[in-house]
Amino acid sequence: MINVTKTFLPPLKEYTEYLKKIWKTGIVTNQGSLIEELEYKLKEYLGVKNLLIVSNGTIALQIAIKALEFKGEVITTPYSYVATTTSLLWENCKPVFCDIESQTFCINPEKIENKITEKTTGILATNVYGFPCEFKKIKLIADKYKLKVIYDGAHAFGIKLNNKSVFTYGDISTLSFHATKLFHTIEGGAIITNNEILSEKMYLYRAFGHLDENYLSIGINGRTSEFNAAMGLCILPRITEFIEYRKKINKLYRKYLKNSSIVFPYIPRNIFYNYSYFPIIFPTEKIMMEVKRALEMNNVFARRYFYPSLNRLPYIDACHCPVSEEISEKVLCLPISQELKDTDVRKITDIIKIQLKKKKY
Ligand SMILES: *Cc1c(COP(=O)(O)O)cnc(C)c1O
Repeated sequence: MINVTKTFLPPLKEYTEYLKKIWKTGIVTNQGSLIEELEYKLKEYLGVKNLLIVSNGTIALQIAIKALEFKGEVITTPYSYVATTTSLLWENCKPVFCDIESQTFCINPEKIENKITEKTTGILATNVYGFPCEFKKIKLIADKYKLKVIYDGAHAFGIKLNNKSVFTYGDISTLSFHATKLFHTIEGGAIITNNEILSEKMYLYRAFGHLDENYLSIGINGRTSEFNAAMGLCILPRITEFIEYRKKINKLYRKYLKNSSIVFPYIPRNIFYNYSYFPIIFPTEKIMMEVKRALEMNNVFARRYFYPSLNRLPYIDACHCPVSEEISEKVLCLPISQELKDTDVRKITDIIKIQLKKKKY
């Protein structure tokens, strides 16, 4: 069976070396030394100043929304994982969907200003599949209307724009370290900001708002454990190798599917990309579904990342985002992982090509 992704597990011996440390200190959670070590190494690897590890990517979003005091309306992308929208709703904000740009799949900055009302307090955009949003244009708009900006960077681990981490843009960026993501801690996530004051505020929010016996602010439980940090410490040294490997897989897919009616995402030349997903766009939803089923018959499980377009969720007031809706109907993410072989890519692309040939579309 081939799934859209495969969680990497390090050699057990490597993981148990970290477990020995945990058994030695008896510290299993509450910002132990492994979390401290992982936070330090992640800051170094990602090239960011302040980074807080939290228990998942959704609580990262919720803490960020709370810290920036988003309320009323928040302009957001319809093309992302559902957590981007539900975290806003959970924090009592009204998501106002702004359509995406068809080449980058990210929020279209030209369409943001039209959506701003006196109730707007912020922008929550996703660097979807790791592709950077138009940071400069979004900043100009945010500054003009005094709005704060959060980037959901759950897909953007390690990505750089003009040699600078994408996580240095906006007021806050959030990450997910879920087992399906490129870098994982089984469950986990992080919050990144350049702003020291915001960082201290969120540090308190992460653990009930108190430092020892000083109760300083409201808070929630966003902590993660030493066991999760241990997994991260085993995975982090391998990330460069993972990205290199996935880059090769990405190339193979493009080679084998060349001259077909499939559209591939455009990877800008000024970014260092992480190849964490391989989305392709079919001419129609019907063909996409036929390919998906044909793959399933052969035990290959591609996923409809991202469908539905989030403005079409049943608990959202109806609104129209034609670009996002169209792409979400025709997109399929093909399997990509550090365990996928050239022969797997051949098998998958052969199945796709047979389906495409079946009818004259
Ligand atoms: C995975 C993901 C999340 C949620 O992260 P969890 O760690 O699963 O809570 C949020 N946003 C996006 C874009 C994601 O892909």
